Amino acid sequence: MGSDRLIRPVGEGRVALLRADITTLTVDAIVNAANQSLAGGGGVDGAIHRAAGPELMRELRERYERCPTGSAVITGGGRLPARYVIHAVGPRWRDGNHGEPELLAQAYRSGFTLASEHSCTTLAAPSISTGIYGFPIDLAAPIAMGAAAAALEAPGTSLREITFALFSDVDLEVFARTL
Ligand code: ADP
Repeated sequence: MGSDRLIRPVGEGRVALLRADITTLTVDAIVNAANQSLAGGGGVDGAIHRAAGPELMRELRERYERCPTGSAVITGGGRLPARYVIHAVGPRWRDGNHGEPELLAQAYRSGFTLASEHSCTTLAAPSISTGIYGFPIDLAAPIAMGAAAAALEAPGTSLREITFALFSDVDLEVFARTL
């Protein structure tokens, strides 16, 4: 673990912040910032599919048709070091008055719940919706970390460590201020 890893204890677990490419992390599950069609895309979605290999798309096509905003589905990890990929769909930012904050919280909650249902202990997530979907990251960070803290405090959860894998120093700084 790098020295740039920031950690905060929550309940019986912890939230960690790391500047990292999420596809490289050895955790039980990684969260993908997917879209409703589950058809792959740019950003972290493209990176995850490239690193995981074609098995990921094959499994998505076989098991799921689509995934509404605020929900999540799970697949194996293909060639990734992670055992599972949880494809969570965050909202596209419009103006903040179209339920975007609640939908973002729901996307994280759905992903964390699926992870616990699959007995995951360690999980890594990107900053959902703050890339191509345009959600302001200073508004997204407290929502993301609030959802993570709630998941770690939920009675009976298997989750013990949720790492936010931030892709830039600026993103890491914003999350670190909120932590
Ligand atoms: P969305 O469409 O939900 O906004 P994006 O993939 O465009 O999803 O962006 C979400 C976040 O993921 C952005 O902060 C982006 O910089 C980041 N990101 C892109 N590639 C990676 C990666 N390999 N690992 C972690 N984060 C990544």
